[in-house]
Amino acid sequence: MFEKIDAKNPLYIATYEKYKKIFEEFQNFAEKLTEQAGRATKKSGKANSYARYLIRLAIFVHRQNPNFILQATAEALAEIEKLQDSPNFIKYNKQEKHFPSATIRCFHAFVTEREKMLPPVMPYSNDVEPLFVHENDPTYNAQQTKGNHENMLFEKIDSKHPLYIQTYEQNKAIYDDFEKFADSLTEQAGRATKKSGKASSYARYLMRLTIFSQRQNPNFILAPTFEALKQIEQLRELPQFKDYNKQEKSFPSGAIRCFRAFVTEKAMAVEDLIDTELNVTYLTSKELPNIKEEQLIKAPTKRHEKEPSNYGQAYRRSQNESFAAKERSNYTCEMSDAHFTFLTEHHKKPYVEAHHLIPMAAQDYFEYTIDFAHNIAVLCPTCHRKIHYAQAHEKKDMIQHLFASRKAGYPQYGIEITEELLLSFYKILD
Ligand SMILES: [Zn+2]
Ligand SMILES: [Zn+2]
Repeated sequence: MFEKIDAKNPLYIATYEKYKKIFEEFQNFAEKLTEQAGRATKKSGKANSYARYLIRLAIFVHRQNPNFILQATAEALAEIEKLQDSPNFIKYNKQEKHFPSATIRCFHAFVTEREKMLPPVMPYSNDVEPLFVHENDPTYNAQQTKGNHENMLFEKIDSKHPLYIQTYEQNKAIYDDFEKFADSLTEQAGRATKKSGKASSYARYLMRLTIFSQRQNPNFILAPTFEALKQIEQLRELPQFKDYNKQEKSFPSGAIRCFRAFVTEKAMAVEDLIDTELNVTYLTSKELPNIKEEQLIKAPTKRHEKEPSNYGQAYRRSQNESFAAKERSNYTCEMSDAHFTFLTEHHKKPYVEAHHLIPMAAQDYFEYTIDFAHNIAVLCPTCHRKIHYAQAHEKKDMIQHLFASRKAGYPQYGIEITEELLLSFYKILD
């Protein structure tokens, strides 16, 4: 049903003639929308394409319902939207670089404006934006086959490539934010001279990785979330990635690590506030919690859902696990026995704090919970602040020390972790 129909096809021409008026109105409308979205340079190409896809969609609806008439009404819109329920639509949409779905959204806005006289706003969608590929562009078909061809997934894309420019335009905010973050990391690593060069390279590779991820999954959206991170990381499992990474001097894998640190940092501040709250609760409670041995986690356990906390949605921590860790350490800082603090008023035990070595901020990265005693480092308050806020090289020594004694135990809980992965959660990339 969804075959390719070019603008010289007699069926296309006949349908166009029939709906010339609405075609033109819709095209003007689409032009306003794309102009509004600040894509003035390419706007008419895109608006044009939307109008042409509207004609094609009308042809397809006609086939299902010969009584269909294309007009700016909710009924006509509903009929067109129904096309999306067909399993072949996804394939067609992908093959046509998401113009069909974008056209439907644009038509939705068009009808809404007509019916309610509202200002034109493109309805929100998780769908990706269509690519700026003009149908008359002779490279159009060539590019399509390229995209579908596995071997061409990781092709070289320079920053003047239209696809790169478009991806950059769509993700400008996150690009800038990420570049600033990368800048602060490379600065911290004491490479002031090279910092901006490296940081902006990471940001540019993030755009390229976004393009590749979208090829793999047209619904991919770049966001500072572990969900997006994990999709990008999946690229590394493809056999061609290794060659690509090598050829690009390891910038792609560096950009991934840096993006991982970026995503973790966004979650880190909240996690630290929750930790602090828990430590203070422990300090002021008169009773020592009772360890329920039978409730301690001993095997891979699915992570819990996030719950509302004083600081927004967050993973709940088990008092039981954190207390068990303190008991196991005999209330001594794991960095040194000499880090004595004070005996607490109620418990008459040295005051120590619990810190999740794989930070709770990274829980989204793991399918199984990381809130178990084995993952909890017991630290004096100074060491605890240090592991959160010291300079990279000082943090690195601590993390390596704490990880060495724990490494072998993680698989028991279904957690796969390497030192490199762990360090990246702490913004230490090399
Ligand atoms: Zn902590
Ligand atoms: Zn200490």
